Amino acid sequence: MGNDQTKQYRPATQLVHGGTMRSQFGETSEAIFMTQGYVYDTAEAAEARFDGSDPGFVYSRYANPTVKMFEDRMMGLEGATGARGTASGMAAIYGAIVCDLKAGDHVVAAKALFGSCLYIVADILPRYGIETTLVDGTDLSAWQAAMRPNTKTLFLESPTNPRLEVLDIAAIADIAHAGGARLLVDNVFATPLWQKPLQLGADVVAYSATKHIDGQGRCLGGVVLSDEEWVEDKLAPFLKHTGPSLSPFNAWTLLKGLETLQLRVAEQTRSAATLADFLADHPAIKTLIYPGRTDHPQYDVATRQMEKGGTMIAFEVKGGKDAAFRFSNALNLIIMSNNLGDAKSLITHPATTTHQRLSDEDKAELGIAPGLLRFSVGLEDVEDLKEDLDQALSA
Ligand SMILES: *Cc1c(COP(=O)(O)O)cnc(C)c1O
Repeated sequence: MGNDQTKQYRPATQLVHGGTMRSQFGETSEAIFMTQGYVYDTAEAAEARFDGSDPGFVYSRYANPTVKMFEDRMMGLEGATGARGTASGMAAIYGAIVCDLKAGDHVVAAKALFGSCLYIVADILPRYGIETTLVDGTDLSAWQAAMRPNTKTLFLESPTNPRLEVLDIAAIADIAHAGGARLLVDNVFATPLWQKPLQLGADVVAYSATKHIDGQGRCLGGVVLSDEEWVEDKLAPFLKHTGPSLSPFNAWTLLKGLETLQLRVAEQTRSAATLADFLADHPAIKTLIYPGRTDHPQYDVATRQMEKGGTMIAFEVKGGKDAAFRFSNALNLIIMSNNLGDAKSLITHPATTTHQRLSDEDKAELGIAPGLLRFSVGLEDVEDLKEDLDQALSA
């Protein structure tokens, strides 16, 4: 980073400079290396690249300079010693789960998972002989009871999608380690700024960089972070040979996103806290869930492991689906979209969109009520957002 490679800079500085590699042209902004391959001056040089004695680049499915800058910047932010960028968040999660598993292994995961993560655990893994158990993530005794001698991986997200349950990462990491398993955390909702799963005891953390890391609705991307040994021995070979590589152009977009991550997430969090208080007091609201409020069901865990409440709010309007639809359709500024972490405020109705696939029984079990809305708070003026919510709630 910068001129002093040994200094451990603070997060805001890391986000601007971390991982930067300058070419011979001395460019200010990171270069986009749109290249598939790399040339060797001699046959001996090619041999050295392939046997690893020269650490240079070989092929962009394996590694690429722009992608490496993104990985290195994320490692600095997360405090990890290994990382790999991927084409999407799901490629990151899938790679992180399956790269070190085989038939006969067992996975325990929280029930409240992002839809595609749940599909991997509940539908894909069992087809390949990997047994899975889903538990109520807030119940530590359920995690404990699910452990078996062949349990290799525990998997959770916190706060969860869409009800923002907060799971005790340190306690679940202890359960994993006591059973010789690893804990993988999907840290999208908390963001790398407000929650550091590796410091809490998790072994692997994964992101959809599509969300806050880009934060401006432009491209898909993902990243997996852990210790160097696991990344090089388990994850890297799996990704290298299966091919969900991050495009250098998207890696560059994500590098630019990281430069403003702290500013955006801090401001969006400030607005989310203000709007959560506003909504909690509103007569049209039945339940309000925000991890930064003392009335959150796991507030004590949230204060222990999250620095701030984050940019996401969940709330239930009185009057069920009809009221939720009337409210959504009446919004003028806040837009309907199932994305999150964007500069633009986005609202989604999980029961009929992201979680439509689930049975009514499963929805009820996960608390995905007909009146529930998930609100990703953006960068607009908080007063404009408040006015929009207020006029739509009275519709
Ligand atoms: C969006 C998201 C994913 C998937 O990421 P993609 O980039 O869309 O593939 C996984 N987990 C969580 C919590 C997400 O919000």
